[in-house]
Parts: sequence; structure tokens; C-alpha cells
Amino acid sequence: MPLIAACRRPLIAALVALSVTSGVAHGAEWRNARSTQIPVDGGLVEVNVHAGRYSVSAESINDWVTRSAHAVSTYLGRFPVELLRLEIRSEAGDDVGFGMAYGHDHHIEVDLGHRANANALMTDWVLVHEMLHMGHPDVGDRHKWFKEGLATYVEPIARAQIGNRTAQQVWNGFRTQLPQGQPQPGDRGLDFTPTWGRIYWGGALYFFVSDIAIRQQTGNRKGLQDALRAILRAGGTLDRDWSIQKTLAIGDAATGTTVLQDQYQRMRARPVRVDLERIWQQLGVSPEAAPGPQVDEKAPLATLRTAILTPPDPPVKTGGAPD
Ligand SMILES: [Zn+2]
Repeated sequence: MPLIAACRRPLIAALVALSVTSGVAHGAEWRNARSTQIPVDGGLVEVNVHAGRYSVSAESINDWVTRSAHAVSTYLGRFPVELLRLEIRSEAGDDVGFGMAYGHDHHIEVDLGHRANANALMTDWVLVHEMLHMGHPDVGDRHKWFKEGLATYVEPIARAQIGNRTAQQVWNGFRTQLPQGQPQPGDRGLDFTPTWGRIYWGGALYFFVSDIAIRQQTGNRKGLQDALRAILRAGGTLDRDWSIQKTLAIGDAATGTTVLQDQYQRMRARPVRVDLERIWQQLGVSPEAAPGPQVDEKAPLATLRTAILTPPDPPVKTGGAPD
């Protein structure tokens, strides 16, 4: 079976993209494909840039790949696979476009807008999202929310842990976008409601509430990051078919809790609405965009909020082989 994680742009980004006029020639024509190999933390990325029009240099592309891989390695403890093949193709537009991760041969395809500049690569989320997909098992199409929710929730956090995104950007982004994952009328729970909102942001809500619960139950000594690192250490990459029960049990064992399994039982077949307003209040995140400070350091769970964006020690395990 094809082990594929196809990823669609968030709604807000898609609307912005529609307002951009395309069809004007920009950048330089690359007549020949270029291939290079980039060492990353515990692995290697073979980058194949196909012939086409690009506005960025080969060096910028290499920096983008290195930075994205470093974010993923920092979060997951090491790069998920020893060798990743990355295929980049030119398309219309001024941003990084559609991405797709393939588990069976460890490769990722990404469209790059021919007007995209170095800043578009610096602020890109797509490549980090796709690389994160290499670091979890394929738990089946019924649980697509697990795969997409994981990548959607972890991507901004992983980027913040290497300084590619500020805390304020992360919390503003979650505050704006997580509500898209709340159940809608007729919702039957995460396993039975395969809509865009519930797969991407409903899944992200599952990981968000799980992260908080793990930290609350362990006195902030463990978090979702420990669970996801353990799943990868146990060999859970996208080319592996694992049951969701096995996957969640391995994650829970690493934190000494049953949070992932409990939240799954709670949310799998019922439309659970997450009380986000209460969570923002506890974390000390302003519930609305407003001038001035956006976070409250005296909030009851302020230290937990800070811990989510702090890389654990040691941040990266070197060496490619799973242990
Ligand atoms: Zn995805």
C-alpha cells in the first residue's frame, strides 16, 4: 500500500496565495537538474532540484534544507531516516507550495514557487512538516488526524526550538488556527470525521491537550516531545505500518502516563470540544490579538508554556542508526 502523507496548506495561507497574480516570469532558468547531498544530524538528505525557473540560489535551497532538518532533529532527537531523497520542482507562485512525504522509499516532493525568495524559504513551514512525517509510523487512513495533527502541532514548536520562530508567533498561530479543529455539527469524533479541519487542526488539538496533560501529570518533567522521541527510537518511521494502539502505548510508556491512550479514547468517537479559552488563560496566552505583551508570566501554567518551546537536553542524538 502507498504510505503517503499528502499535506495541504493551512486555510489562511491558501487564501493569501489566491490573491497573488501569477504568470509573470521571475528568476533564472535552471536548464539542468542539480543534485547534492547534505549531511544532517544523524542522516543524509539527497536534494534533487529539477530543471525550471527559480528566484533563489542553490545555496539558499541548501540552507533551507539544513535548517528544516535541524528543526526536526532537534525536536525528535535525531533525523528520522538515514537517507532522505528530496525532489524540488518549480511551480507558479512566490512561496513554497504543495508537499508530499512517501514512506516506502523515504522521499519527499515539494513544489517551489518560481518567485519565492530567500525570505520565503526562511519562513517556510512545509518542508519541516513533511520531514516530521518521516518520523512517525503509518497508523492507517482512519487515523489520518494522528499523522497530520502531529506534523501540524509540532512544526511551529520544532522551528521555535531552533530559533526560526518566536514564542509569540507560535502562540499567536495556535490561537488563530487551532479553533479550526473544533468539532462541527454532525461530527462523530476524530476517527470518523475525515474533514480538512478535523484531520489537520482536530489532530493538532489532540496533541496540544495531550502535551499539556503529560506535563501536568509529570510535574513538567515530561512532555509530548518525550513520547514522540520514544516512538521514533522504537523504529516508528513512515515506512512502518503500526496500529494506533501500539504507537500510543509506546509514547505513553516514555512519559510514565496513559495520556495519549486516554485522550484517544476520549476523542476518537465523540465530538469533544476543547475549552481553548480556559487553556489560554491557564497558559497565560492572551485570548485575542492585542497590542502589548501577549503572554502572562504569572499565569498558573506559564512555566509549562515556556517548557513546550524549550529544547530538551540533550537536544540531538548523533549517529544514524535507531537504538
Ligand atoms: Zn502532512
